[in-house]
Amino acid sequence: MVEVRLEGVTKRFGRVYAVRDVSLTFGDGEFTVILGPSGSGKTTLLYLIAGIYRPTRGKILFDGRDVTDLNPNERNVGIVFQNYALYPHMTVYENIAFPLRLRRVAESVVERKVREVAEMLGIAGLLGRYPSQLSGGQQQRVALARALVKEPSVLLLDEPLSNLDALIRIRIRSELKRLQRDLGTTAIHVTHDQSEAMVLADKMVVMRDGEVQQVGGPEEVYNKPANIFVAGFVGNPPANIIRARLPQPGFPCLQLPDGSSHCIQDPAVAGRLSALRAGEVILAFRPEHALLSDHPVPDYIPVEAEVYTVETLGRENIVTLLVGGEQVKVVVPPNVKPEMGAKVYVNVDEGRVLLFDPETGVNLEYLKPAEAAEQEHGAHDSGQGGAEA
Ligand code: ATP
Repeated sequence: MVEVRLEGVTKRFGRVYAVRDVSLTFGDGEFTVILGPSGSGKTTLLYLIAGIYRPTRGKILFDGRDVTDLNPNERNVGIVFQNYALYPHMTVYENIAFPLRLRRVAESVVERKVREVAEMLGIAGLLGRYPSQLSGGQQQRVALARALVKEPSVLLLDEPLSNLDALIRIRIRSELKRLQRDLGTTAIHVTHDQSEAMVLADKMVVMRDGEVQQVGGPEEVYNKPANIFVAGFVGNPPANIIRARLPQPGFPCLQLPDGSSHCIQDPAVAGRLSALRAGEVILAFRPEHALLSDHPVPDYIPVEAEVYTVETLGRENIVTLLVGGEQVKVVVPPNVKPEMGAKVYVNVDEGRVLLFDPETGVNLEYLKPAEAAEQEHGAHDSGQGGAEA
């Protein structure tokens, strides 16, 4: 168990910055999930921590000790790969025993440790089999057992669940979380699956193009996404994005895509809006933070929309609607099933609406007062009038 720290870590492959100036701390015993789309640098980051890659710049520290120039076997990391990478000519027993044999551990200790870890992962009955005689889920457990048998300081998981079918994936992910909690091992897990990230993480690191977009607990990332990218990536379905206009600075009244006007009553949201200069404003809302109705609902932001499709999921329905040519999705109870093509109102919960700076994409909730003041100042300078926030 260690704390892993990255200080200004960059990894370049030729001209490509796979990871760019990343500084992060992975807490001792914490389960961190690195989430991002394909090519965002997740695997590269994991391999840098493992010692498979050396950084182009920056430092990696385990419990304050500089391990930047150490090889993987000198870092005591356990790694589980997406394809499990089991040795096909070895039995399950020998696969699990392999890291101990490399360390020339006494045979009696090997036997005890292999049996212990196999027992813990529910594969003690499979020790005599070869990998080809196992299901995907069983192979995954063997790979996990091999990573855990040497009692690693850090457990590194590179999309370990993505080759499993949906039901087994859901079962193993909760077992994995429980196992990590019981062992107290620092774990770093890479995935592009945001549901998996939300379920497993004590802490999430959202990446894009080699750069960290946000670090935070799952609820924080979900409820207060740092920018439009995170809002549109996290959540199933992700947040809806609507472009509106602020006609007059200092007044929290919006012009909505359907041409109507709405003045925000919620004091926090109104305050954020008032700090903006006139012009485009980007609004986002979670699919569960809006109501559908055939009339505007008081205290909500009502936007006219046309029903595009309805997906029935049993526990709830997901209604896709067209708002000013853009699709938005709203989660509704199973008894709400509007007709395709019907004209309805999407009533967005004012208190839950997210506002983003149209130029930088930053969530206005994260703007410090000084930055908001700068915006206000900029608005004066550009002759567009100032905010009164
Ligand atoms: P995926 O989910 O598809 O595995 P990822 O987020 O793990 O993606 P990386 O594999 O870390 O992303 O790749 C980040 C960037 O670095 C990509 O643009 C990729 O093409 C590039 N890259 C990764 N490894 C190498 C390499 N060995 N040589 C050259 N470019 C590389």
